[in-house]
Amino acid sequence: MLSVESWTLDVEDCAIVTNSKFEEIAGILRERQRFAVLGHVRPDGDALGSQLALALSLQALGKEVRVWNEDGMLEKYSFLPRAELLTKPPSAPEDFDVAIALDTAIQNRLGTALPAVRSSKIWINIDHHVSNPGHGDVVYVDSSAPATAEIIFHLIKSEGLPFNRDIAENLYAAISTDTGSFQYPKTSARTFEIAAELIRTGLDVGRLSQQLYENYPRRRLELLRELLRTMRFQQEGRVASFSLTLKTAAELGVLPEDNEGLIDHLRAVRGVIVAVFFEELADGKVRVSMRSKTDVVDVCATCQKFGGGGHTLAAGARVRGTLPEVEDRVLAEVCAKIKSLKSLQC
Ligand code: AMP
Ligand code: MN
Ligand code: MN
Repeated sequence: MLSVESWTLDVEDCAIVTNSKFEEIAGILRERQRFAVLGHVRPDGDALGSQLALALSLQALGKEVRVWNEDGMLEKYSFLPRAELLTKPPSAPEDFDVAIALDTAIQNRLGTALPAVRSSKIWINIDHHVSNPGHGDVVYVDSSAPATAEIIFHLIKSEGLPFNRDIAENLYAAISTDTGSFQYPKTSARTFEIAAELIRTGLDVGRLSQQLYENYPRRRLELLRELLRTMRFQQEGRVASFSLTLKTAAELGVLPEDNEGLIDHLRAVRGVIVAVFFEELADGKVRVSMRSKTDVVDVCATCQKFGGGGHTLAAGARVRGTLPEVEDRVLAEVCAKIKSLKSLQC
């Protein structure tokens, strides 16, 4: 068993956010009846797994729970236990006692799930993005956590909230994906201890890993082939980027979820410090996805300059403009930053 005391908060990273105690959050979960459990648009494994895990714990407490995400359940995560609970938000808004935003840096990132909540007596914000300003009434943001699911695990275990194998599988999938299979720098001994405790519920790591990482549609690889055709390197190979046009996406028939993780191919190249992925969107904006190999190059700060946010080593933004325009502006910013750090090597 992990002790709650081992859960220390990185006060420096969270300087602007005052966290509520788990006790207060658990009190609200036990006392109130009607819940909306929400996560960010273009969800990843952490958003979806955390949403399902917390929703299942609430359901086991006998609560009425809606689990909404703008994109609904993604095809590739539809194997998650009780995945059917998570739906797109309805067009008619509903009233709640408590709305909970998970893994969501700013409220706007809830997309259409936000207006689907007509009213909520309490808003809870549980997240691990360093750029989270602390939106909501009750806040728990820990940017030292490698995944929101790690916070959910501690909340559930320390407060004795319902826990079972389905919850464990959702948390495991969330932590595995947000840590890049337990590889990214925020992966800690605590992360492995949590994983061990999740596995002890009887979950099958091999099966789960295959569902997560060896079950991609062929079109994802076809997409990678097209992205690699556009690949370019700048600043002596320290900046790598590739891009996707709407036309190519349509020709390949790819879904938005297909490109999750492809940027890692760029970051994995020796000498690359910053990787950038540009995706043309239908609304006149470009989705920018950025990764860094070192804290010295804070891509969250760079993305914040373009109205986005995220983590120090993984961040994003949606920037208005054509694909070439946005590529030029963003890469100029990244290259200037890299240039100023002449001797930096990775
Ligand atoms: P992505 O590149 O889309 O995988 O995003 C990397 C990280 O940055 C994730 O944790 C996202 O939640 C976060 N992120 C992406 N886009 C934005 C944005 N526009 N605003 C705030 N955070 C973002
Ligand atoms: Mn996420
Ligand atoms: Mn996350």
